[in-house]
Amino acid sequence: MGFSCDRCGRCCTREFNGHVFLLEEDTESVRSFAPDVIIPAPGFDACDDEGRFYVSGYALKTRPDGSCIFLDDGRCSIYERRFSICRVYPYMLHREADEKGRVDWRQISGLNEHGTYNNPIDDAECARIFRETVAYEAAFLDQEIRFRQALRDLFAREGLRYVRRTYDHLMREFRNGAKVEVRVFHQGRFESHLIKHDLYDR
Ligand code: SF4
Repeated sequence: MGFSCDRCGRCCTREFNGHVFLLEEDTESVRSFAPDVIIPAPGFDACDDEGRFYVSGYALKTRPDGSCIFLDDGRCSIYERRFSICRVYPYMLHREADEKGRVDWRQISGLNEHGTYNNPIDDAECARIFRETVAYEAAFLDQEIRFRQALRDLFAREGLRYVRRTYDHLMREFRNGAKVEVRVFHQGRFESHLIKHDLYDR
């Protein structure tokens, strides 16, 4: 693809890419220098029959205009310690399997909507991109799998149930301004937060 960044800054906005999802190591890192900028990742995965949501990790806050909290005048203000997804972007696994059940590693996000293409990339750089993209996707899947295992164990231990109708009802209330409890998976346990939906609009 020969992608090259042209510093348009679009990829660091909610409008273009949603909220930045953080791997556990990213969450630990950002907690060490800006602990107030993390929020439960949007798109909660499940809820229990007692009205609590569950999600597999944290995300970064955005500003009211939808830009990443660290985007400053079109540049990343923490570039040297930016997060895992920011380092591999726009390369990623195309997670939707084809009709034969295969997933394709060749995927570039927002093709032709940002940056420039067909720039020369030497073999060493290609190899680096490949290694880092595979490592990111493996770490992401590992976190998702551990989250689901922990959720299964928690529900079994506490006799909780997942009811789709409860999820939909709670989500409607949440969108209408109600405060909800969200349990965020982090390093083998769930961290509880009481939040309102406007957290995702600013
Ligand atoms: S941390 Fe930096 S690179 Fe990552 S989305 Fe925010 S501004 Fe962009």
